[in-house]
Amino acid sequence: MTVFLSLSLPLRSLTFPQKPTSNLFFSTQFRLSYQSQSMSSASQSEPKLGSKVTFQVPGLDSSEIDRIADATFQRYSSPKLQRNGSGVSIVWFRNDLRILDNEALYRAWASSEAVLPVYCVDPRLFGTTHYFGFPKTGAFRAQFLIECLADLKKNLMKHGLNLLIQHGKPEDILPSVAKAFGAHTVYAHKETCSEELNVERLVSKGLQRMELPGVSGNQNAKNPKLQLIWGSTMYHISDLPFNPDSLPDVYTQFRKSVESKSTIRGCYKLPTMLGPLPSGSLDEFGGWGSIPSIHELGLHQGKREKGMYFIGGESAAMGRVIEYFWKKDLLRVYKEIRNGMLGPDYSTKFSPWLAFGCLSPRFVHEEVKRFEKEREANNSTYWVLFELIWRDYFRFLSIKYGNSIFHLGGPRNVASKWSQDQNLFEAWKEGRTGYPLIDANMKELTTTGFMSNRGRQIVCSFLVRDMGIDWRMGAEWFETYLLDYDPCSNYGNWTYGAGVGNDPREDRYFSIPKQAQTYDPEGEYVAFWLPELQALRNDKRNFPGKAYLQQIVPLKFGSTNFKSGHPRFKSVRQNKEYRR
Ligand SMILES: Cc1cc2nc3c(=O)[nH]c(=O)nc-3n(C[C@H](O)[C@H](O)[C@H](O)COP(=O)(O)OP(=O)(O)OC[C@H]3O[C@@H](n4cnc5c(N)ncnc54)[C@H](O)[C@@H]3O)c2cc1C
Repeated sequence: MTVFLSLSLPLRSLTFPQKPTSNLFFSTQFRLSYQSQSMSSASQSEPKLGSKVTFQVPGLDSSEIDRIADATFQRYSSPKLQRNGSGVSIVWFRNDLRILDNEALYRAWASSEAVLPVYCVDPRLFGTTHYFGFPKTGAFRAQFLIECLADLKKNLMKHGLNLLIQHGKPEDILPSVAKAFGAHTVYAHKETCSEELNVERLVSKGLQRMELPGVSGNQNAKNPKLQLIWGSTMYHISDLPFNPDSLPDVYTQFRKSVESKSTIRGCYKLPTMLGPLPSGSLDEFGGWGSIPSIHELGLHQGKREKGMYFIGGESAAMGRVIEYFWKKDLLRVYKEIRNGMLGPDYSTKFSPWLAFGCLSPRFVHEEVKRFEKEREANNSTYWVLFELIWRDYFRFLSIKYGNSIFHLGGPRNVASKWSQDQNLFEAWKEGRTGYPLIDANMKELTTTGFMSNRGRQIVCSFLVRDMGIDWRMGAEWFETYLLDYDPCSNYGNWTYGAGVGNDPREDRYFSIPKQAQTYDPEGEYVAFWLPELQALRNDKRNFPGKAYLQQIVPLKFGSTNFKSGHPRFKSVRQNKEYRR
């Protein structure tokens, strides 16, 4: 399913604009790109982001990534921490693939004499999506997961532990591992959506059925317990000024309330050593098990030939934080550049690591505060936290609204007519709608597993507003491809984009011509992904007329007809834009 584009782009097309433009985004990004390039490589005098067609994120070599990770672990280590438990506990890793600020790991360590870390490669993750039967996990995300597991295993080993990797359902595996090692508790992070909650229930039941004679850790326990811990958000659920069931339906109210009434907890410190491992044989589990290859997961990873590719794992996540905030100094200007679409540096790109739990949002918060103290505090430094509060909000909303976030009518149960026209949907997902901005974004998604926030909002609006297609088809396509897929943020944003979200005011149309003129005025982005537009004048790349594919549907408002140098906008009241 992966689409690879040819590499026939002339270098000129891949560089930032050579002349200053009046557009704030481009001029700022140009300047920043130049500064960061010259900071990191003195020999490079040309301000070229685009002299490359692939961008590793983070753009650091593996030894630097390891150095940064080790230094960060060191910074957070505390020799004073003491464990006061007995017996064996298990850490069941789920979407929390990190050792820093991992409360489940910390509590397992503190409450035992030996910890066994376990990861289950659950076949259900590699099945199909709920309604439309797309692959549930595409090859990019699977590859990212593989790298996350390798890095987690490495970091656990550096701290005196290891990672038992088992292929199968957690509810089948964890009870037998707990029995074999006489573990008194399985610690894990709590999830909020139905599929994950179901697994929690089954694991808990499986453990309850497991009789443990002579568990030494807890005299009263007859069977191992499942201890679930909250840890995916920046604000802890227990620190919210309201019960999640009465969460405000307007984001601003939620944000103002948590900002004024709650505090963000500090990161958990890391014991200098997490070992020992429990004694006992792993023979019945086939030893420590192996990290699956992409082929073993039934997937095929093509060559990465274009756009960004992300390195999975906690170490790379820390590398990215240090690179974006400190080395490139981009936190200082994040708010001005965050709406970009091209290259690795317009936004943090933390989302894949946050989704897999390689990166703790509380760690990001602490790094922002450190930056504000040591360098500068401004609107941009705050804005990263503002965006992370959106992430928290969607997570808490999934508790309040349950499965309705996956339903056609969304949390408000809105009755609308939707089409499931396959021709239109195929054109959208394959990037051949005849609108360069849509097509470029969709090609980026299927080539890399990533799309900018701006791009996601635009392609979502186009699918649901201009094409009238069932928004769940778009959401499930994103579920397959996104590296950073998480059910709360994905379905939360899609319900907003489709106008069926909990907040009726989040119901806006994105005008493609206006978005193109504002965010890709030189056509750099579309030309990067659609090489056939290279030959056109910069200002025509987003408005190519007959020089490009025929438009598959007309726009609901406005048009991309290029008359006397400008696209025509129809000024209608409904043509409201997202301001975020
Ligand atoms: C239709 C649609 C689907 C989306 N699906 C997902 C998804 O499955 N997973 C996901 O993590 N994000 C999703 N987003 C939100 C957003 O697009 C990505 O989080 C963002 O583009 C990631 O890039 P970044 O890390 O550079 O973001 P930055 O701009 O650097 O923001 C920093 C962090 O804030 C959080 N954040 C920013 N915007 C949002 C938002 N609108 N909603 C929730 N969190 C946000 C992310 O964790 C992000 O990493 C979706 C947005 C839309 C419009």
